[in-house]
Amino acid sequence: MSTYVAPIRDMQFVVKELLGLEEIARLPGCEEVTGDLVDAVLEEAGKFAAGVLDPLNRAGDEVGCKLVDGVVTSVPGFKDAFRQFSEGGWVGLANDPQWGGQGLPHIVSGLTSEMWNSANMSFALCPMLTAGAVLALARHGTPEQQAAYLPNLVSGKWTGTMNLTEPQAGSDLSAVRSKAIPEGNHFLVQGTKIFITWGEHDMAENVIHMVLARTPDAPEGVKGISLFIVPKFLLGKDGKLGARNDLKCVSIEHKLGIHGSPTCVMSYGDSLGAVGYLVGEENRGLEYMFTMMNFARLEVGNEGVAIAERAYQHALVYAKDRVQGRETGSKSGERVAIIQHPDVRRMLMSMKSQVEAMRALAAYASANLDRALLHAEKSERARYQSLFDLLTPVVKGWCTEQSIEIASTGVQIHGGMGFIEETGAAQYLRDARITAIYEGTTGIQANDLVGRKIAYEKGVTAKQFIEEMRGIDSHLAAVAHPAMQSIRRELTIGIQALSDATDWMLGAYGRDARLALAGAVPYLKLFGTVTGGWLMARSALVAKSSLDEQSPEFDFYRGKIASARFFAEHQLPLAQTFKSEIIHGSESTLALEAHQF
Ligand SMILES: Cc1cc2nc3c(=O)[nH]c(=O)nc-3n(C[C@H](O)[C@H](O)[C@H](O)COP(=O)(O)OP(=O)(O)OC[C@H]3O[C@@H](n4cnc5c(N)ncnc54)[C@H](O)[C@@H]3O)c2cc1C
Repeated sequence: MSTYVAPIRDMQFVVKELLGLEEIARLPGCEEVTGDLVDAVLEEAGKFAAGVLDPLNRAGDEVGCKLVDGVVTSVPGFKDAFRQFSEGGWVGLANDPQWGGQGLPHIVSGLTSEMWNSANMSFALCPMLTAGAVLALARHGTPEQQAAYLPNLVSGKWTGTMNLTEPQAGSDLSAVRSKAIPEGNHFLVQGTKIFITWGEHDMAENVIHMVLARTPDAPEGVKGISLFIVPKFLLGKDGKLGARNDLKCVSIEHKLGIHGSPTCVMSYGDSLGAVGYLVGEENRGLEYMFTMMNFARLEVGNEGVAIAERAYQHALVYAKDRVQGRETGSKSGERVAIIQHPDVRRMLMSMKSQVEAMRALAAYASANLDRALLHAEKSERARYQSLFDLLTPVVKGWCTEQSIEIASTGVQIHGGMGFIEETGAAQYLRDARITAIYEGTTGIQANDLVGRKIAYEKGVTAKQFIEEMRGIDSHLAAVAHPAMQSIRRELTIGIQALSDATDWMLGAYGRDARLALAGAVPYLKLFGTVTGGWLMARSALVAKSSLDEQSPEFDFYRGKIASARFFAEHQLPLAQTFKSEIIHGSESTLALEAHQF
């Protein structure tokens, strides 16, 4: 069994050397974000993740949560860990200091979030959803609602949830049926919500549910959905906890993974109706909820990075320890640890290089979000927002799909023991599986990428981004280093494949949107692979310029170049396959409809 070690050096590299922390620190409100501060935050978060959250991860899986008479008891140890987490100020790391948050940029909080999820994904879901509820209320709530709820959510005294899904309304939220009937200054909410993460628990004294429901005369479809705050305990006039609201958890799901996170069926308004307070204007609920959902999509992408990193660390420890076979070509005949075998090294390098690309991509998206929110120039804010919007489904879809494959490679490295629960490798694969499903499946992310983010704006942002990526070519050409030339060759082909596929998508969407959507998931994977390869190439250039044989960091930078080269030679060639699948395979995908399944 391995213990989690936060990959602090690689995180420092990404935030300080690759993505330019100085530029983020120049954004209004980020003046105090120095390199030293980032180091201190990462160090402390790493200690907390490894020392407090990681030791609870197995118990989370094996013991799980319990529901008795409507009360969910969290896994032993989780409640105390959440108290420490809240006292440490980790819940509101990226929230506005006005509400008690630390006001750190998302590029930093995203990395700490990776740590929480590597150490204990079930636990990390609770503060993630709370932070999402805070963002939605901070942007769309009234000053009174903000004053009543935000300080206690940001401090972790209370937690937040996201209530979208109903039995008939999963990917398609236009089918939401929960009702909200006006009564005085509030509404009475009635309905059943399923799959509500941390919908009920004992880690905080109140749970603030953000619920989608329809008012009586609301139009059909997504334009008739409103957003409500529905607290577990109502607040008295003094702001203190009052009566229990008319809502309860009626069951928790038995799941493939994340057993430490209660997935609740919530029933609202079985008696008189659950008191709920409208957020913003009626019928604009889905638009408001997207503030929370876009944040959660980025965060679930971080979960993918996190679980893949954890699976890699676990496999690496095993590969160094497990002795099996003899070294190929060695005369001594001595038995060796499996890490000596070329194929095991291939698997480890593939895990490592993909995780580094995924981390760089998630952090790059976060940096664009910070610029979109904080840049002094309005036009720059709009430009970065478009780029962030484009990248959000890619981070969510690509990082999570990759995480399943990477965790599966982790099982493979363990051989038969990987299939046995005792080693722990299987838990990462089981936990990873949900990341590509909740917060919008990969299919839904891909539809969003192709429809709303590419076709809707005629590919403007995507084409600009592709041109920006092409700009690296002259820098790679200027470095006489075999690895750089190999990276350059593969990246050039990969970027061209993305460019061709984007042109094809734009044409196909105009002719027959179904044809474009048939190739949407391969297109999302192509986008992730090429963007990951571009960021790895940038990493290699930074590392090359810092390579100094006398430096204690020599091995680190040499490793970054090796990793980038491996990614270029093993992952970037997939770009051609994806392109071919999109351009030549979409017809046959649709043609299948003509056959009987
Ligand atoms: C453990 C867990 C935790 C969750 N937490 C929450 C939570 O906290 N709050 C909450 O509100 N929900 C939560 N969910 C719900 C989750 O977001 C949904 O399960 C998810 O959005 C998919 O919806 P669905 O299950 O109804 O699947 P469906 O929508 O029925 O999809 C089934 C399949 O059809 C595909 N599909 C559907 N529509 C399309 C389309 N238009 N184009 C292409 N493919 C399509 C999907 O990709 C998928 O492969 C959670 C779910 C789980 C399992």
